[in-house]
Amino acid sequence: MQDIIDRFISYVTIDTQSDSSSETTPSTKKQWNLANKLVEELRSIGLEDVSIDQNAYIMATLPSNVKYEVPTIGFISHFDTSPDFSGTNVKPKIIENYDGNDIVLNEEKNIILSSSYFHDLLQYIGQTLITTDGNTLLGADDKAGITEIVTAMEYLVKHPEIKHGPVRIGFTPDEEIGRGAHKFDIEKFGAQWAYTMDGSQIGELEYENFNAASAKITINGKSVHPGYAKNKMVNAILIANHIIAELPRHEIPEETDGRDGFFHVHTINGDIENTSIELIIRDHDLQRFNERKELLKVLVKKYNLKYDDCISLEIKDQYFNMKEKIEPVYHIVEIAKKAMEDIGITPIIKPIRGGTDGSQLSYMGLPCPNIFAGGHNFHGKYEYVPVESMQKAVEVIVRICELTAEQ
Ligand SMILES: [Zn+2]
Repeated sequence: MQDIIDRFISYVTIDTQSDSSSETTPSTKKQWNLANKLVEELRSIGLEDVSIDQNAYIMATLPSNVKYEVPTIGFISHFDTSPDFSGTNVKPKIIENYDGNDIVLNEEKNIILSSSYFHDLLQYIGQTLITTDGNTLLGADDKAGITEIVTAMEYLVKHPEIKHGPVRIGFTPDEEIGRGAHKFDIEKFGAQWAYTMDGSQIGELEYENFNAASAKITINGKSVHPGYAKNKMVNAILIANHIIAELPRHEIPEETDGRDGFFHVHTINGDIENTSIELIIRDHDLQRFNERKELLKVLVKKYNLKYDDCISLEIKDQYFNMKEKIEPVYHIVEIAKKAMEDIGITPIIKPIRGGTDGSQLSYMGLPCPNIFAGGHNFHGKYEYVPVESMQKAVEVIVRICELTAEQ
């Protein structure tokens, strides 16, 4: 356990926050600090073909230790942390034998991690938790995943009696700004399938995510002196209001969960002459996703007829549900599921209400379900991770390698 804690802390105390306003890869120079350290570490535990490219994508190989042919599988994590909250000067706190009570993260600022608000804490009574000191995020997303993969590889190197095929590992920058998969060289990676270790609570196994698009509606009005505007003024703000009011009222993030999709209007800017509405569209079901895009087109057409073609619509697809790519190779989910069951974890299979790097990778040709890394409350000061969950994730990785060689 202490090895996992030490390794995890050595990663989270290095600031690797990414930045969506940057055009470089990695988006921030400081991500190199951890990337270079990881390369050294992968070499020192005995992995082969350890490489880092000009964009800081790290790859390494654990060679097969059996004589027969076994598919090459991969494990992937990201080493950047979210731009949503500070990752500078992370000072992790270790709470041993957690008793279920409130955890004072920061006495000075009165920041409390409370089980009466975060009920998930109660399932970890008796375990060792790692939390923040209230000033930063923790970075368990996804340095827990990296810790688990490195620890599992080290374990397999040291235990040659456990039979496995070739295993590739990949660590990426910039996942938190949606670019983790962008420069991932699938061909160089050379795995038949992989798992991102980037889920939350113990047991999570995910192979469905949203289909996602963004849309921007731009309305050009006509400003005229309001006293003399009859039949002349076209108020872009009011047209924007009409359009928003015609979207399904209850299909919004705050009223949906599970597999229910939504429209989410997140930005509106405007005056009489120019108003723009920006929104995102999310749905697990591809047909309903397409219907949502169609609805926007229909609405824009309707108001264009009424207001003399003053509205334009731009829709951009962002990512697609990986389910389409995973279902034809469903055995890769079954292996992960069995690995969890074999070590006494109940798999929690549920659709992701977002995207993962795995969804992009799946569409790039590397089917890639997502497995728990163990942390909770990502991207903020209440982030924490139970060490026992990280240990279990290590066991899941080892077991997946073993099961793949058996099949
Ligand atoms: Zn993550």
